[in-house]
Amino acid sequence: MGLSVAANIYHFLSQTRELFGDEIFIQSSLDNINQGSGYDFPGSLQEFNDKINSCHKCQLGDARTKFVFGVGDPKADLLLVGEAPGVDEDRLGEPFVGRAGKLLDKILAAIHLNRTKGVYICNVLKCRPPNNRDPLPSEVDQCEPYLQHQIRLIKPQLIVALGRVAGKTLLKQDIPLKAMREKIYHYEEIPLIVTYHPAALLRNSGFKAPTWKDFQWIQSILDGKTNIG
Ligand code: SF4
Repeated sequence: MGLSVAANIYHFLSQTRELFGDEIFIQSSLDNINQGSGYDFPGSLQEFNDKINSCHKCQLGDARTKFVFGVGDPKADLLLVGEAPGVDEDRLGEPFVGRAGKLLDKILAAIHLNRTKGVYICNVLKCRPPNNRDPLPSEVDQCEPYLQHQIRLIKPQLIVALGRVAGKTLLKQDIPLKAMREKIYHYEEIPLIVTYHPAALLRNSGFKAPTWKDFQWIQSILDGKTNIG
């Protein structure tokens, strides 16, 4: 057994234990562990949601109204990631609802997408931070493995971080959003770009033009007209 295979098995078991506790899933063949660009984990998004939606790994689990797993096409090419649920999301259990969510739906419609086909929407944190404060590093440490597992189940072609906080959290770089835009990064080996959060567009209409530019770029990538390597 090569070192990389052993390392992959160790990583798989560590991640699975992190996600599911002592209930370790092993498929009938370990050959499944290292296929494609990542790991093949068992189960569906719904099964994963069922596993984790009573999580209390961090303090936010005690204060939430609803756990906000994510919504959309389980085989989406485009994964949109925000930082954390807000007050409306906490109340309804769905990400990006309210005025910002409606605006996001309009932006998606403009590139011929919607949240039921071709798109999956979720947050880094699955529970609302009090008063919509930024996620704490300790909360991200606890919750980020859930996002990583969602990514492995969905296998999107492109990840788009919505807003500076989501970008900072996924990139592990605390830089202005302006500096994050118009670049290709990678997260979990998937190309990632960063654009404005739709709530920022409601506060400042000057962000609409650059956001539209970003979404035209996103459309071009998804349509295969822009090669991102
Ligand atoms: S924020 Fe994440 S880690 Fe914290 S309780 Fe909610 S699901 Fe669990």
